[in-house]
Amino acid sequence: SDTVERHEFGAEVGRLLDLVVHALYSDREIFLRELVANAADAMDRRRFEALTDQASALPPDAKVRIVPDKTARTLTLSDAGIGMTKAELAQNLGTIARSGTRAFSQSLGDAKAEDRPSLIGQFGVGFYSAFMVADRVTVTSRRAGSDEAWTWASDGQGAYTLEPATRAEPGTDIVLHLKEDAGEYLEGYRLDHVVRKWADHITVPIALVEDGKEETANQGTALWRKSKSEITPEQYTEFYRHVGMNFDEPWATLHWRAEGALEFSALLFVPGMKPFQAVENERASKVRLHVRRMFITDEAELLPPWLRFVQGVVDTEDLPLNVSREMLQATPVLTKIRRAVTGRVLTELTNRAKDAEGYTPFWENFGPVLKEGIYEDHERRGEIAPLLRFHSSAQDGWTSLPDYVSRMKDGQEAIYYLVADDADALKTSPQLEGFRARGIEVLLLSDHVDAFWPEALGRFDDKPLRSITQGSIDLAKFAGEADAGEAPASVDALVAALKTALAADVSEVRATDRLVESAVVLSASSGGPDLQMQRLLRRAGR
Ligand code: ADP
Repeated sequence: SDTVERHEFGAEVGRLLDLVVHALYSDREIFLRELVANAADAMDRRRFEALTDQASALPPDAKVRIVPDKTARTLTLSDAGIGMTKAELAQNLGTIARSGTRAFSQSLGDAKAEDRPSLIGQFGVGFYSAFMVADRVTVTSRRAGSDEAWTWASDGQGAYTLEPATRAEPGTDIVLHLKEDAGEYLEGYRLDHVVRKWADHITVPIALVEDGKEETANQGTALWRKSKSEITPEQYTEFYRHVGMNFDEPWATLHWRAEGALEFSALLFVPGMKPFQAVENERASKVRLHVRRMFITDEAELLPPWLRFVQGVVDTEDLPLNVSREMLQATPVLTKIRRAVTGRVLTELTNRAKDAEGYTPFWENFGPVLKEGIYEDHERRGEIAPLLRFHSSAQDGWTSLPDYVSRMKDGQEAIYYLVADDADALKTSPQLEGFRARGIEVLLLSDHVDAFWPEALGRFDDKPLRSITQGSIDLAKFAGEADAGEAPASVDALVAALKTALAADVSEVRATDRLVESAVVLSASSGGPDLQMQRLLRRAGR
């Protein structure tokens, strides 16, 4: 008809569909997890929007409905969620960023087969998994607050259509026309099994509708509300995988209930692996805020950015269910919860850091993020500093500031460090010669944040941190195998000549006892930024 608009998918969507359908074929039941999760999210979003916009109010019996129809060979998922406008249908289901496709296909290639299903969640391409079981998908949606409804339809072969539709209430119906070999997803027991396996933690009710009869398929148990003794390790792991789209075991599980002045339950995890989507891209904590079990938002920033790798749920009694966005920003309750939760995570890290071997994987995954806390959080700086780990000129493996201090030489006043882009270049830097020869340990720093935090920390255990590229460091007082001693007179003439020749480029030329084998080394003036900082400033065009 005239009203049907046909649109080509972007080239990237076609490629992505192909990837999803083929790479994940052996786990294709997860299409149901993805579609149910989208439906539940849409209902959560509608409930949240209704706090400030009455037009969005969710009907009291709102559910996700799963309806198999054996005669028509369709499986329909209906939700009473926020819905999508015509533009949102085209945007959300018809486009994807080129960079996203590349990163996704790269990760698919790198991932072990059993890890692949979690990738589609991490990359936000879950909807396309519908085409693993369906050769045609139609999505009819009405945005809450609007009277218009639209139907999006596609066979997943390069194009989709959009046409006007009708829907009595806001929400979305997704109709899957099942493939010949996907008949199992018309069977109630099979659907029930998959929902229980993947969606039991979803707190929105999910009903399976067979022969007109509706049965609740998920338990919606708020695991974090139960006491520890009632929860098995498997249940913790399963929940961890569910909240964070993870597939590994958590490195740390923190589950506690705060009672008294402040009441909340928290169930938090430190992942055992670095997520595929690098934590560098996302700055804000995504820990979920619930009020009396009900999901409110994952944008409450319950933890500071330097603990953004922590995942999980905080559920409080101390906020009203109809808490608004504005209230979330201003309420002292959240300020107190943030403080308590941050403190608890730091305590856990401090305890776990006592076991050097067990701490290493955590440090290698998330250490650079934790370091940001040194310059971002004045108050917590003192607690964070002992948790940091470093490579050093004197040790293999990782060392800490307290360990470094315990090895300092008699008369050594400062903690020395050297920053560069590349860990291997550090080990052979001529800047280290004089220190090595005298057995003075230097911390070797090569994370991008290392240019910033040492200066912010300033001191540890009352010892100043000093970049060895900055100013002159008097090493003469430490005896070593290669004592430079007094600069002979002939060097004075050389120094004077160099000063004249380089007058436009350097502020000072002097003899140094920092070198053993090399003839010259660049150094930063003692008041200004150190060499690595100067490199960064130059790169930034300053
Ligand atoms: P993700 O959910 O990870 O963002 P998807 O491919 O599963 O990726 O979905 C893309 C987007 O489409 C979602 O972010 C959401 O905005 C929208 N969407 C999907 N399903 C629904 C639904 N049932 N109701 C409303 N919006 C939806």
